[in-house]
Amino acid sequence: MNTGTITVAYLIAGVLFIRSLGGLSKQESARNGNYFGIAGMVLAVLVTAVSWATHGLSGTAIALLTSSIAIGTFVGAGLARRVEMTGMPELVAILHSFVGLAAVLVGLSSYMAPSPAAAVHEAQTDSSHLVHLVEICVGIAVGALTFTGSIVAWAKLRGSLSGKPLLLPGRHVLNATLAIAMVAFAMMFAMAPTPSAGLPWVLAITALAGLLGVHLVMAIGGADMPVVVSLLNSYSGWAAASAGFVLSNDLLIVTGALVGASGTILSIIMCRAMNRSILSVVFGGFGTGESKTSAAPVEGEVREITSDSLAQRLADAKRVIVVPGYGMAVARAQGSVNELCRTLRDRGVTVRFAIHPVAGRLPGHMNVLLAEAGVPYDIVREMEEINHDFDTTDVVLVIGANDIVNPAALDDTASPIYGMPVLEVWKSALVVVFKRGMAAGYAGIENPLFFHENCNMLFGDAKKSTDALVTAVRAK
Ligand code: NDP
Repeated sequence: MNTGTITVAYLIAGVLFIRSLGGLSKQESARNGNYFGIAGMVLAVLVTAVSWATHGLSGTAIALLTSSIAIGTFVGAGLARRVEMTGMPELVAILHSFVGLAAVLVGLSSYMAPSPAAAVHEAQTDSSHLVHLVEICVGIAVGALTFTGSIVAWAKLRGSLSGKPLLLPGRHVLNATLAIAMVAFAMMFAMAPTPSAGLPWVLAITALAGLLGVHLVMAIGGADMPVVVSLLNSYSGWAAASAGFVLSNDLLIVTGALVGASGTILSIIMCRAMNRSILSVVFGGFGTGESKTSAAPVEGEVREITSDSLAQRLADAKRVIVVPGYGMAVARAQGSVNELCRTLRDRGVTVRFAIHPVAGRLPGHMNVLLAEAGVPYDIVREMEEINHDFDTTDVVLVIGANDIVNPAALDDTASPIYGMPVLEVWKSALVVVFKRGMAAGYAGIENPLFFHENCNMLFGDAKKSTDALVTAVRAK
């Protein structure tokens, strides 16, 4: 395949990726966005594989290439088909770790056995050789940090590691020391006369970057995890772009930069939504958003409500807001919630949904579930659009949400979520929380809302409670 054809194919794939990102920015166009992304990736993989195969690869190398693509496709399709909606965040985190690992392996192999393209590039001048070594160092460092950071995020998201931040004394000094040591090792690496002399230095950089990734993510508290997930998404993009530089592959550079830049923008949006400074999250408790580990104990009386009395209140209501949270995803209650919404709207009740930016375990988690259940887009509102409407609302139904409706975020300075804007549901005439018991949410803290005078609990699985409520409302 000639260079012109490859360039044109890469350009088309790049445009498809940009269309994909554009599509994914709105619910209505997200499905088409996905198709653009799939088409771009199929084109990119095919053109890269065919161009390598036609550039004099041995039969063994072609067999390795095709079997790797086949195994990757098989495993990826199997994982995607089996994954539950509640398991998506862990899957995303572990996929980020694969990108990081790939960048490390590309860097190491390109150093030990340069590809023909890199060898030509390298042979040109001393300065281009130095640039190539810097590309390798950066690719390996970003890749190793992404790899270990994503594995820690994966373990935190699936509950294998505690969501509490690990705040080691002098942790910022430790981070700075690791970063300085990596720069020093990179200089030794660049000055090494032979690949075997440089290998120990590059392996040391890999180990230190891996340690930094573990330490940075361990220092992040539960409530700040959404930003970490989007940051790791952006790191995985930068790791891919670095691998693109190492391999002299323009499409990989463009694709990595697209993922890196969009992930950075998403991280900034999430930080704004959570009232955190991006530095505080990147460096784990650095700066304004110092992570806390304890909150004031909550005392008071918990009031329960039955489906029947709640059905009566809903039948009498004019305005209802539904606040979905992670528990709705666990219970797979979105279909039942949509049924309840339709039943109430048929009776003339105004029903809207209030979405907190960090509800669930993935940016956009609740929007995806509600869209899947068929909830009309025009009644789904973002937090800032609806937070002023609670005081004119008759009933708020909090379905499996906890941290995102915790008033401690506004008034308890010792709370780990202090400063994060929350949905101010307690301002409505009646709040009903659907959950199974009094367990804490992801941030691991008590919620004073449950003891509030106008708050009632409807204990039980969110799907069963909602189904019972639909029957009770229809009987009114
Ligand atoms: P939370 O995790 O705070 O609370 C979920 C609640 O759902 C729990 O208290 C649980 O209580 C209840 N629940 C669980 N299963 C069921 C069920 N079957 N039926 C009814 N209730 C159930 O969720 P929120 O959505 O309020 O907040 C999200 C949290 O996750 C935030 O702290 C956020 O920072 C964090 N996070 C968000 C990410 C994102 O990108 N969106 C990523 C990573 C973390 P009980 O067990 O008593 O039923």
